[in-house]
Amino acid sequence: MEKILFLAHTQTDGALPRIALETLTAAAELSQNLDGSTLAVGLIGEKVQAAADSIAGCGASDFMGVEGKEFSASRYASDAAAAEALAREAGATLILAPGTPRFSRTLPGVTVRLQGRVDTHVSGLSVSEGELQIQRWYYRQRMVATLTRQQRPWLLLFDTSVSRPWEGESGSASIRILPVEIAQNLQRTQVAGIKAPPAEAQTIRPDAEVLFVAGAGWTKKQADGQAHIKEAEKLILDFINLKQASLGSSKSLVDQATEGQEVLSCMSRLNQVGQTGSTPRHPKGLATCCHGEEPHVVGWRFVNERRAVNLDPNCGWAQGKTDVLYVADAFEVISKLNELLSK
Ligand SMILES: Cc1cc2nc3c(=O)[nH]c(=O)nc-3n(C[C@H](O)[C@H](O)[C@H](O)COP(=O)(O)OP(=O)(O)OC[C@H]3O[C@@H](n4cnc5c(N)ncnc54)[C@H](O)[C@@H]3O)c2cc1C
Repeated sequence: MEKILFLAHTQTDGALPRIALETLTAAAELSQNLDGSTLAVGLIGEKVQAAADSIAGCGASDFMGVEGKEFSASRYASDAAAAEALAREAGATLILAPGTPRFSRTLPGVTVRLQGRVDTHVSGLSVSEGELQIQRWYYRQRMVATLTRQQRPWLLLFDTSVSRPWEGESGSASIRILPVEIAQNLQRTQVAGIKAPPAEAQTIRPDAEVLFVAGAGWTKKQADGQAHIKEAEKLILDFINLKQASLGSSKSLVDQATEGQEVLSCMSRLNQVGQTGSTPRHPKGLATCCHGEEPHVVGWRFVNERRAVNLDPNCGWAQGKTDVLYVADAFEVISKLNELLSK
């Protein structure tokens, strides 16, 4: 009989992050599908009652928490102690947790303390013949594996968008707060503050509806024999800000910085999508001025609806890699789009 523990930490506002609510949906469904299993909730944060209340109707038979000032910010030593205490108290055999940076850093170490096994980047789960199976991608999202494990406890860190966010009844959860002492030597790491770029400079938005990918074509000579880099940058950033889209790039475009060419200042390596870049998840994607080559397109694996704008009717997108290809000048298309969006 599996004892399932949904493990989560709060955000600074005391609420649970979206990815935690998605993981809760997976945990609640798993407990319904695994005969004889039980579901418990374990929360970590400065204060956890409000978060527990917000998910009171999730079907868990036990709510536990570790709270206090020492647990407000991400720190390996205190988070590991809290997660270990919750896992041991629950006697958990399966621990489902969101793959936040905070937990991705901590839970593999907790697994060693519990003598369990951990799988990160879980992208799906199912129950077959009474046994949990998970999905995970390998080789830069080219091969998907379905796997199961005998070892317990089995810790699972979930990627975003695997399930829809949990949306059940809130209420008043009766939560047991576990006493976890954090000695001074476990508090050597202190969070002094957070440095983040201003909102308008933040172009990577994992929760955006649209992923806008710019390619090297934006910096190439156009029909008038000139490159129009400043104009390209303004069109791209206006679109990103008007649509609150996330900005991706092809490798060729970000490589230009290292090749000494004039570049789009809004682009960095972090924006690169593809085989050697990222594989973001968004409902829609729009590729502009990029060719649609395989190593680039592999980054679009989890984008549901794909469209591309390219001058070349024989570009890679035209070989079945996009739902809709507009054979058109991206400068004209995005300029018109921005005009419509700003109305
Ligand atoms: C091992 C390996 C790993 C790789 N990993 C990645 C990766 O992770 N990510 C990645 O992106 N690439 C990757 N690549 C590189 C990839 O193969 C391509 O070279 C790259 O994606 C091409 O970038 P691009 O389409 O922006 O540029 P180009 O191929 O130069 O295409 C520019 C396009 O812009 C179009 N264009 C020009 N002007 C306009 C206009 N006004 N309107 C509309 N269209 C216009 C042109 O028709 C052309 O199709 C990898 C390659 C290898 C070998």
